[in-house]
Amino acid sequence: MRVPDSENDMTTGVDLSEPFDVVVAGGGNAALCAAISAARANVRVVVLEGAPAFYRGGNTRHTRNLRCAHDGSAPTMTGPYEEDEFLEDLHRVTSGQTNEALAKLTIARSTELLGWMGGQGVRFQPPLGGTLSLGKTNAFFLGGGRGALNALYRQAEALGVTAIYAAPVVGLTIENGFFVSATVKHEGRVHTVRGKALVAACGGFESNIEWLKEYWGAAADNFLIRGTPYNRGEVLRMLLDAGIAPVGDPTQCHAVAIDARAPKFDGGIATRLDSVVFGIVVNAEGKRFYDEGEDTWPKRYAIWGRLIAQQPGQIAYSIIDSRSIRLFMPSIFPAVEATSIGELAAKLGLDPAALEATVSEFNAAVQPGTFDHTVLDDCRTEGLAIPKSHWARRIEEPPFYGYPLRPGITFTYLGVRVNEQARMLLKDGRPTGNMYAAGEIMAGNVLGKGYLAGIGMTIGAVFGRIAGEGAAVHARN
Ligand SMILES: Cc1cc2nc3c(=O)[nH]c(=O)nc-3n(C[C@H](O)[C@H](O)[C@H](O)COP(=O)(O)OP(=O)(O)OC[C@H]3O[C@@H](n4cnc5c(N)ncnc54)[C@H](O)[C@@H]3O)c2cc1C
Repeated sequence: MRVPDSENDMTTGVDLSEPFDVVVAGGGNAALCAAISAARANVRVVVLEGAPAFYRGGNTRHTRNLRCAHDGSAPTMTGPYEEDEFLEDLHRVTSGQTNEALAKLTIARSTELLGWMGGQGVRFQPPLGGTLSLGKTNAFFLGGGRGALNALYRQAEALGVTAIYAAPVVGLTIENGFFVSATVKHEGRVHTVRGKALVAACGGFESNIEWLKEYWGAAADNFLIRGTPYNRGEVLRMLLDAGIAPVGDPTQCHAVAIDARAPKFDGGIATRLDSVVFGIVVNAEGKRFYDEGEDTWPKRYAIWGRLIAQQPGQIAYSIIDSRSIRLFMPSIFPAVEATSIGELAAKLGLDPAALEATVSEFNAAVQPGTFDHTVLDDCRTEGLAIPKSHWARRIEEPPFYGYPLRPGITFTYLGVRVNEQARMLLKDGRPTGNMYAAGEIMAGNVLGKGYLAGIGMTIGAVFGRIAGEGAAVHARN
């Protein structure tokens, strides 16, 4: 893999004016799986990565695992996870908003991923204990997503793939459903990169605040983006404008509660906060607004981003006492600590009287029960307008702790429609001639709603492989 400094850079020998066989837009898991699969078919592949080399790999850098069906023989996973069970899990989270054929294809081909990715140098490790308990369903990357990415880039390099960093695709020339060329900005110049086939693997548009504002209004200014700032959806928009059929609800995004002190972009998994179920959550007025103990955290963590997005100023505060501080995976930022609720409120910038009133009212409503955070226990409140259904314990043992929370956006659902060959479909249902898509940019075909931990990487790897192989066959013919 060559990394040129500029077009026609003779020192590296890469000439962007020479046509490639397969042009891959994007540089994450889906793009690399496509590039490797195409290069294995002996075609000339270029990867156009919008981000600079250090930030290559989009949201894939932040991942930890992928979900795969398996027979239980893998040393890095526990128990078998049958294809039927995977499909049931998918149906449950999407409430049926999935293309059945593509869902079954994803799941069937997921059985190959441990072996295939392993063959590209990606290493897996046994899962560690944690809040998500995913040992049976998910394979964890040794070295995380960045480790997996480095292995995939190394493999692409060995296969002769050309990767160009800081090379965002800013235009596409498409004629009658046929990709002709990509317009790329690189080192202050605009280049036309021609290819016989395109694989679009540029993720969603979650980093494009202006686009998010179309649905969320000014509230989107207060959203934090958990992943790369480079997934701005430019290529997605160009494809939709060129007549590719959309898939997925454009207004929806996956959002979780994260530490409000996280950076605007790229805070990753270390800023997620799992403390919600152990105490109460209040808004900027010091008032509770939702049942913190509705269900187990893995089933509910994804609703809290949206709930906080609906609060004034898009901010909330998780309040716990000393009995709970060690029960969850901590954020990278330390909790705000105080010896009284009033002091905690002041430190968090809340009205002390309001928070004291909320905590007193909550404490008075807590019923006797046996606390067990591993099951839906019988610790609940009675008589509150907004109940807490499980794990309700009085917040009374100092020191008291608080975390500020904001909505952390993981990904958006809008994408391009594809068929089982990963070929993009036009609005009239016809497949495009030479345009393929893989990863988050088409994940809405399979995951129309909700989330199943690890399925993003599965969809990227499965459709990346299919797209790369298909694009190579097209290029050779
Ligand atoms: C914090 C966090 C943790 C996650 N953990 C997991 C997990 O453990 N397991 C899991 O399955 N999923 C996880 N996900 C979701 C997962 O990251 C995505 O499903 C996955 O990365 C999608 O892969 P992709 O290749 O389609 O997109 P990405 O990995 O996001 O790659 C998109 C690429 O496109 C590039 N790009 C964007 N626009 C352009 C352009 N105009 N021109 C050229 N290049 C462009 C970007 O720079 C990037 O390289 C997580 C997401 C986040 C944010």
